[in-house]
Amino acid sequence: MEGLEKAIRKMTEEMPSLDMREHESMREHCSFKVGGEVRAYIEPKDIWEMSKVFFYLHMCDVMPLVIGKGTNIIIPEEGLDICVVCTAGLSKLRMGETENTVYAEAGVSLARLAQFAQQNGLAGLEFASGIPGSVGGAVMMNAGAYGGEMKDVIDSVVMYYLTEQALCEVKGEDCGFDYRKSGFARVPCAITGAVFKLTPDDPEAIAARMRELNDKRRKSQPLDLPSAGSAFKRPVGGYAAALIDEAGLKGYTVGGAQVSEKHAGFVVNRGDASYDDIVELMDHVRRTVYEKSGITLEPEIKIYPKGMILYDDWKVRRQGIMDEMLDSAKAKMEQADSQK
Ligand SMILES: Cc1cc2nc3c(=O)[nH]c(=O)nc-3n(C[C@H](O)[C@H](O)[C@H](O)COP(=O)(O)OP(=O)(O)OC[C@H]3O[C@@H](n4cnc5c(N)ncnc54)[C@H](O)[C@@H]3O)c2cc1C
Repeated sequence: MEGLEKAIRKMTEEMPSLDMREHESMREHCSFKVGGEVRAYIEPKDIWEMSKVFFYLHMCDVMPLVIGKGTNIIIPEEGLDICVVCTAGLSKLRMGETENTVYAEAGVSLARLAQFAQQNGLAGLEFASGIPGSVGGAVMMNAGAYGGEMKDVIDSVVMYYLTEQALCEVKGEDCGFDYRKSGFARVPCAITGAVFKLTPDDPEAIAARMRELNDKRRKSQPLDLPSAGSAFKRPVGGYAAALIDEAGLKGYTVGGAQVSEKHAGFVVNRGDASYDDIVELMDHVRRTVYEKSGITLEPEIKIYPKGMILYDDWKVRRQGIMDEMLDSAKAKMEQADSQK
């Protein structure tokens, strides 16, 4: 992509200390341990460096793929001509400005966030302590477990609006949270941080609840094998794992990908799974479950398509708006002239 090449050249010249890796394999950046190379992989050290990266990408019409811990994504083996921006460097975590709140930047892990809240006697994040993602990814996905979800604890979210190049704050009630999704997916944005509203409680009691949930997780989930967590969303009127199990698919294998024998809702990498293995296996699971139950399973994992290009069409859209305004002004003038 021409714009991306230009942006890479610009960032190399203007930001010599930037951690930018060209032709980086995504295998080590995804918990599934699959995926090919992306044209550029960038880990800005803080929000300010990240906004500078976004500026250069925007000026060259490139939309980045923003990721956190890569625990819910897969990239094709053939690689993608895109720029991945990882939020790992956005790691600030502190008490919030109002009572019983905590502020965490997007790259903070949910485990660290939950532990910080617990140590400060604040309850509400126990459900999140075993989810292996980052704050940004969890907000984007409205991550949840054991009856809790991000929606319940978010006071506000700070995001970088990519097409406008501006930081904005969004109140929790305006985040468009729904089951495993948020309104942020519809906006070209990077989540930079969030404020969590929590409830005071005894740190020991909070720690005990966290231990209990994490024991449950260890007992029921195949945490010893690479995966991206639950492969499918919970469908209306059922549980994906139960439907897959009832369809006789536990242990079903394509290449190195397998429906986990421990938890049918997980697809695991037995060691040498490829993107194609995972996609083929998930297609087979969807078809078989539909044939047996009439229920369509929707993937929870973000499977990026082969050949995907991320283009920031701000110039085209801005021109479109200007053309519309000019047309409307012209029409008004013509109308005024005809009434003379
Ligand atoms: C073993 C295991 C167990 C899991 N258990 C659970 C569970 O119990 N509940 C649950 O909900 N999920 C679970 N997951 C899935 C995953 O951990 C969550 O969805 C998590 O919230 C993803 O966070 P991440 O930082 O890894 O996001 P990524 O995988 O990096 O990204 C996920 C999506 O969010 C976007 N994104 C990430 N960060 C940002 C940002 N800062 N700004 C804008 N967009 C961003 C990405 O573009 C992508 O679309 C599990 C995964 C594994 C591997």
